[in-house]
Amino acid sequence: MNLLKSIPKVDKFIKHKTFENYSKKLITKLAKEKINRLREDILSEKITEFKEEDLVKNIINEYKNITKPSLQNIINATGIIVHTNLGRSLISEKSFEKVKKVASSYNNLEYNLKEGKRGERYSHIVKTLQNLTGCEDALVVNNNASAVFLVLNTFAKNKEAVVSRGELVEIGGSFRVPEVMIQSGALLKEIGTTNKTHKKDYENAITSNTSILMKVHKSNYSIEGFTSEVELKDIIEVAKEKNVIDYFDMGSGHMIDLPYNLDTKEPSILKIMQHKPSLISFSGDKLLGSVQAGIIIGKKELIEKLKKNQLLRMLRVDKITLCLLEEHLNSYLKNELDDIPTLKMLHTPIEELEKRALYVKNSLNTICKCEVIKSETLIGGGTTPNRKIPSIALTLEYKNYKPNKIEKLLRDNCLISRIENEKVLLDFRSIQKNELDEIIAIIKKVFK
Ligand SMILES: *Cc1c(COP(=O)(O)O)cnc(C)c1O
Repeated sequence: MNLLKSIPKVDKFIKHKTFENYSKKLITKLAKEKINRLREDILSEKITEFKEEDLVKNIINEYKNITKPSLQNIINATGIIVHTNLGRSLISEKSFEKVKKVASSYNNLEYNLKEGKRGERYSHIVKTLQNLTGCEDALVVNNNASAVFLVLNTFAKNKEAVVSRGELVEIGGSFRVPEVMIQSGALLKEIGTTNKTHKKDYENAITSNTSILMKVHKSNYSIEGFTSEVELKDIIEVAKEKNVIDYFDMGSGHMIDLPYNLDTKEPSILKIMQHKPSLISFSGDKLLGSVQAGIIIGKKELIEKLKKNQLLRMLRVDKITLCLLEEHLNSYLKNELDDIPTLKMLHTPIEELEKRALYVKNSLNTICKCEVIKSETLIGGGTTPNRKIPSIALTLEYKNYKPNKIEKLLRDNCLISRIENEKVLLDFRSIQKNELDEIIAIIKKVFK
């Protein structure tokens, strides 16, 4: 068994020159594993020869694989702006610059600089939200799912929360409204039918044990035909009359009017606030275009009660979240909307998208068959269900490659496309202006 004898000893082996610039601890771990496997393979006669140089190469490869960041940037050419699988809203580098200083220094996260004593973590965004939306008070939690849970747990534990059967939705990631309601301790009281719920259904449902009338944004589905749902302003009216809380889980929640006439069915946060709701909540990283967060705004006395719930400690947000959120809410206040990439993408004129698509096409003309076409895309992220917005796409064809093959080749290079009518499309609604040359380079590399 000469081969067995020639297996290197770990202690000596890890002194190999190649390993000099790598972590000794991790190299030792990997070397032990590889050498053990090598011994087993020799004993079972799976291998009959080996080279020390190959062993070294193997270990370095494994090292690089393990230490490579798993989260990486990709190019989103699906057209879907708020893509939950692809990280939802982008944060501009400009906002990161402002946050960098605060996050890498000590800061006044929970310190009142004026009075020199303990301050309030949530205070930082309250004034901005008050000025922006006219709310009395505000609170930020980890995401909108937490917001829903906190509101129901605080106000509807062992009490009835009234909700329309048409709004008991399941959102992506198995967030099911009825199940979340039950988990929170609320007694779910369903009213109306799948297609129709009337104002009187809310009125009739209220008993002495009712605490909340809840409305939920339908997010990912719409019903057509013989339907009616009760508008928030009517629910607010009933709630006031009967002295219970009205709460709207807005889901995405856009601050200002949407383009492409989407607003006819989807009032903005600013419009909703005109009706003076008790509480509404929405996501930070859907159409608001900021970081992952759940934002709750409404009446001061109710927000005070939410702050007293112990759960808040478990749902609290980090300084980086607060800092970025403040930055983005300020962009709304100052009307500097170009600093919010989600809005910028949503509003980019078709002519501009066409220009970008042509730029890519002209660089690829000799490489593959491509064509600039009009397309339609969804905004995504549980916003404006089933309503498409106009876009521009580039179709890609190469030799006799099947669309699935092209899609995979692009994906292997972190370019995510979509397949439509048996063609691979790059949709420019979600592609950034500074990504065009990289896209060209990837396609040239793949179709060589
Ligand atoms: C997306 C959504 C949620 C969950 O929000 P997250 O910020 O993803 O936690 C809750 N309710 C509705 C209606 C939604 O659309």
